[in-house]
Amino acid sequence: MRRKLIAGNWKMNGSLSGNQALLNGIKEEIGQANCDVAVCVPAPYLAQCRDSLSATLIGWGGQDLSVHESGAYTGEVSASMLRDFGAKYVIVGHSERRSYHGESDDAVAAKTARALRSGLVPIVCVGELLSEREAGQTAAVVGRQLDAVMAVLSADDLANIVIAYEPVWAIGTGKTATPDMAQEVHALLRKRLAAKSPAAAEKVQILYGGSMKPDNAADLLRMADIDGGLIGGAALKASDFLAIIRAA
Ligand code: PGA
Repeated sequence: MRRKLIAGNWKMNGSLSGNQALLNGIKEEIGQANCDVAVCVPAPYLAQCRDSLSATLIGWGGQDLSVHESGAYTGEVSASMLRDFGAKYVIVGHSERRSYHGESDDAVAAKTARALRSGLVPIVCVGELLSEREAGQTAAVVGRQLDAVMAVLSADDLANIVIAYEPVWAIGTGKTATPDMAQEVHALLRKRLAAKSPAAAEKVQILYGGSMKPDNAADLLRMADIDGGLIGGAALKASDFLAIIRAA
């Protein structure tokens, strides 16, 4: 059985004091979570996570990384910098990066490979727009996004990624994919992984993201191919995040 992963995506939210209250709230109540837990935070707060979470089972990570190792890339954060602050995870190819920063499938693939080379676990996001779903293109879109990543990874490397299926129309909108809708896409992603590596398909955690909340988490997390959640809004409130962790 794959262990579930509940990962918070704080996006561009937080402050030193607000984060501390949130992290304390999570730490105090988490108990013996029987799933993996992580928070992906803005880069300036990685040190705070390291200081606050090192003695816990909660991991932390970034929300993006540079495709380059180092050099004249103003504003960028490298994989080794994330590692320097103890990050375990990094989100790659979130739809907000794809749409606001023009990240192509190839750029997402290159970043995924870079993260793995540095010992980070990339959480690779895929997902269709509403117009693509309505045009019956969901399978084609997420398949294309995953294929680009698989094309640059060995079968061994493929087993070390996490995938997050995030239908773009469900992100931050309060509209969630139904468990059956999500399961259908998760199953086809796993089938696609299996075509390259049956072992990777068995091992890779495929998270659902898009308005996952305490009141819908259990039903989503019960599905055979949903191995956790990438949580935006509900990760900013300790009680909501904890309720989702408990549902897992
Ligand atoms: P949401 O965001 O939970 O607020 O919909 C999820 C995400 O964008 O990762």
